[in-house]
Amino acid sequence: MAKQILILYPDTFIWITPAKGLLYNTKKFTIKEFRITRNVLSLCERLMGNNRIRRVEINTDTLFDDEKQFMKLIISNKFGYISLPEENVRTVQNGHRPAPGLSQDKTGRNTRDILRYFSDLTIYIGGECEQTEFYKQTFYPYHSVSCLSAIDIIDFLNRIETPYLRHIHIILSDLYGKSNLSLLISWLLHTRDLITFYIPHSLTKKSFIYNTLKNLGFSVKIICRGREDTARSIREFIQLSRKYDRQGPDFHFLVTNNSEFKYFNLLVSDHFPSAGKVIPVYSHNLRFIKEKIFRNKSELHPEKVTKRQIRIHQSLNPNFFGSLTLMPDKYIYSNVNCPPLGNMQEPIREIISRELENNYAWKLIRNASPCCHCKYQWICPPPNNYEFVIGKTDLCYESALTPGRYTYG
Ligand code: SF4
Repeated sequence: MAKQILILYPDTFIWITPAKGLLYNTKKFTIKEFRITRNVLSLCERLMGNNRIRRVEINTDTLFDDEKQFMKLIISNKFGYISLPEENVRTVQNGHRPAPGLSQDKTGRNTRDILRYFSDLTIYIGGECEQTEFYKQTFYPYHSVSCLSAIDIIDFLNRIETPYLRHIHIILSDLYGKSNLSLLISWLLHTRDLITFYIPHSLTKKSFIYNTLKNLGFSVKIICRGREDTARSIREFIQLSRKYDRQGPDFHFLVTNNSEFKYFNLLVSDHFPSAGKVIPVYSHNLRFIKEKIFRNKSELHPEKVTKRQIRIHQSLNPNFFGSLTLMPDKYIYSNVNCPPLGNMQEPIREIISRELENNYAWKLIRNASPCCHCKYQWICPPPNNYEFVIGKTDLCYESALTPGRYTYG
């Protein structure tokens, strides 16, 4: 009775690199590393290689010790089980599939109306403000001499005519610029549920926020930098919220060092536990960003990544997918760190097609070096804007891995 079949459970994934492999169960969130030897590699290849059907026939009489250990690891940790050859077992495929919502035919053409994919629009109105490049990492006012007029924006929104838009983020640089904000605000009233205004703290006129935007039902986020004036201003917001007996705006605190990080975290927990967010930003402060953003092995392990998330990580980038950004120069981007897709006068379907053809951001996944050689490739969160601005294709301490040839999943 030497012949048996080793079968992986449908929720188990295996990824291997030349030195180490990883077993991960997306139901129990168990994860185990194993050493790759020539025999174990051959077993993995047979397990994964046959049309990616995750079962392999084994002869228990002739197994080597390392193969036995590998099987023991699989069975004792419930990544798979042993069956007899005559048992009728369900086969499961573990290959790449289109991610949910991205339907393609055999030639890779999209079979759905591509307008469906466009769900999130960011509009940088532009105007005079502090010149930084933080807008490449997060919502932050953009300095420009020219700016989008209310008429430009209304005309654009009228032309794109999509029922699939779920969010419109409007970033103001200057409250008193050339944009005719009051016209824009009154036009946007019928879609106010979709709209969030982002207003730089330094330009904030609090009565505008309370009497206009909040009063009309818009969502408002104040973007803050700078420690002392921010603290003074925040106190005024707290007083105003009490006076108007109304929920105030949310706050994004951008921080570039540890002392700001601690200070604003304390401020948020004291005054805005549900309305404040502390966001580390890169400003040639790699040490701080490494400390706050980079992941190490122990941080990767506890992540509860589901099977659906793994499929998504293999197909598209949820950080960017569906988003377009309109800049004050009238160009549209899928990501402001990438080349433009076209200008606001062009049909929106053409703009979306260009992104799907060029793959600048929406389908940016961890398929480049060093991630494509890493066993965490599909567990790891997908690429983000920090990687663009720092100029790295990974944000972890794992990239010192020996480059290799093997990955499965
Ligand atoms: S090398 Fe890439 S996939 Fe591996 S842990 Fe780092 S960022 Fe994640």
